[in-house]
Amino acid sequence: MKPYLLELSNLNVSYPNGIQALSAVNLKIDEGGLWGILGPNGSGKTTLLKAILGLLPHNGKVLFRAQPIKKSAKQIAYVEQKGDFDMDFPITVFQCVLTGTYPKLGLFKKPGSSEKQAVLNALDKLGLMQFKNRQIGQLSGGQFQRVLIARMLVQNADLIFLDEPFIGIDMESEALIIHHLKQMALNGHTIIMVHHDLKAVREYFDKLILVNRTVVDYGATEDIFIGEKLKQVFPYYHEVVLA
Ligand code: ADP
Ligand code: MG
Repeated sequence: MKPYLLELSNLNVSYPNGIQALSAVNLKIDEGGLWGILGPNGSGKTTLLKAILGLLPHNGKVLFRAQPIKKSAKQIAYVEQKGDFDMDFPITVFQCVLTGTYPKLGLFKKPGSSEKQAVLNALDKLGLMQFKNRQIGQLSGGQFQRVLIARMLVQNADLIFLDEPFIGIDMESEALIIHHLKQMALNGHTIIMVHHDLKAVREYFDKLILVNRTVVDYGATEDIFIGEKLKQVFPYYHEVVLA
């Protein structure tokens, strides 16, 4: 039997200030698909991604294809929230996207012509060719988010996490990004994305994870995006969205 792509058992995360952000999280995810993580502000969505990635101390089990996740770091990509980046860091769009090739390059190897070609292909797909030599600090929010997605395409990871990529960006960038995420999911990648806007959920996601200080429920969008499930996470808001 094929192991789960990702399996969390009894995951607990608390911060040094004593806040227990997540308790007793259990989750089993098969290969493939575009997953949305939904939950109110402060419900532990970012904490969940960071704990899975091993960026936060936690207890419980996190397995990737039945192995401790640390062993498979090259197969996993993380597109952080834009706010986590230092926009004054002196790096061009091309160089930034090229860093997506680093995880799979051997130690002390320099990116060669095939890596550079992959960067150009990704820049082209995201409509970024004319910005290739621009400093990242000189981009709009939507353009920078497209740079992060181009880097993610180049990284070509099996499992990809994104944290609210659509905050503060234009509709054209959002449409282009969701198009490429859907394309990657069709090609067998597994994508898990924190998303705040409930309006486009049915259109964007095959599957959903509801978070409210634990994983409340998860499964196919048509089974999860219904009043009785959403009520557990958005007690007031769900009626507006489903109306
Ligand atoms: P979300 O991403 O769903 O908005 P977070 O995962 O960022 O929520 O936060 C979950 C809870 O953990 C919140 O109560 C938040 O205040 C708390 N928290 C997040 N980061 C820290 C931190 N670095 N130190 C202490 N508490 C934190
Ligand atoms: Mg968050």
